[in-house]
Amino acid sequence: MNDCVFCKIVAGQIPSAKVHEDELTLAFMDIGAVNPGHVLVAVKPHVENIFGLDDKLAAAAFQTAARVARAVQKAYSPEGVTLYQANGAAAGQTVYHFHLHLVPRYEKDGMDLAWPVKNPPREQLQANAAKLRAALE
Ligand code: 5GP
Ligand code: ZN
Repeated sequence: MNDCVFCKIVAGQIPSAKVHEDELTLAFMDIGAVNPGHVLVAVKPHVENIFGLDDKLAAAAFQTAARVARAVQKAYSPEGVTLYQANGAAAGQTVYHFHLHLVPRYEKDGMDLAWPVKNPPREQLQANAAKLRAALE
């Protein structure tokens, strides 16, 4: 945790361009912005990924995301906004401190996420739902 870059940003040990701060979250500009107005919303405590969020932190993260999304829309009037949130290297996570991206989007802006649709049969969807309902119990 000591060498976590987002913990250092939260602690003010390295600089960031802050957008919003409250008790549980910090929103700041992404240093590798895809488009102008690309903001990261991080939780303040060091939580690696979504699996470590309690309900309060999860709610706070999304509340800040929604607030900042409205500001992005007002300030930049993008054609769209993508929320992107990665958990684990296979999912594209590179900083292991929970955060989500708000990316202002434009037609043909080059951002791409391959989405290889499989269209499984209805029975498979029902089986998958049952498996997850059991996991929620
Ligand atoms: P991830 O791939 O984990 O979803 O996203 C991590 C993001 O953090 C990347 O988009 C990257 O540009 C951003 N990032 C990494 N280091 C820093 C930093 O020191 N400052 C800021 N503002 N953003 C960073
Ligand atoms: Zn951290």
